[in-house]
Amino acid sequence: MNNRIAVCPGSFDPITIGHIDIINRALPIFDKIIVALGYNQQKKYLFDKEKRIEFINNIFKNEPKISCSSYKGLTVNFCKTVNAKYLIRGLRSSADFEYEKGIALLNQSISEVETVFLISRPQYSHISSSIVREIIINGGDARQFLPNEVQF
Ligand code: ADP
Repeated sequence: MNNRIAVCPGSFDPITIGHIDIINRALPIFDKIIVALGYNQQKKYLFDKEKRIEFINNIFKNEPKISCSSYKGLTVNFCKTVNAKYLIRGLRSSADFEYEKGIALLNQSISEVETVFLISRPQYSHISSSIVREIIINGGDARQFLPNEVQF
């Protein structure tokens, strides 16, 4: 079997050690994971798309099962184009659960794509890209939340 393709969608602005933990823990479950940067017109990004992709490619350069792409439009449509039947999402809190549940149900009703949730490890459950961005923008040191490959 070589067909368990999963998409791990997100903004990854920037990718944190919390994201990396989820992706690494999902690795034994799937044959291939595509870390996919969705484009959201309403969002203002701190790191441009090329930079965010470069960080991810560097982090996983020795892992042939992981690749990185970007897409526009519905995540489930992207899944179709890459033949992925699974989405991977991380859950940090009950707030994440409520939000993710809505999206997963929606995706279920418009596609065959199944969402697989992994619970965040406690040591990472307070980390979010938005907090990291806030620290960076205000001149603080966010390195403890970031892999070495995220350089700026
Ligand atoms: P989005 O813009 O869709 O919120 P993010 O890049 O912020 O994208 O997050 C992508 C996924 O990673 C989401 O499923 C989110 O819950 C998960 N995630 C983010 N931070 C963490 C963390 N610290 N631990 C576990 N999962 C996380």
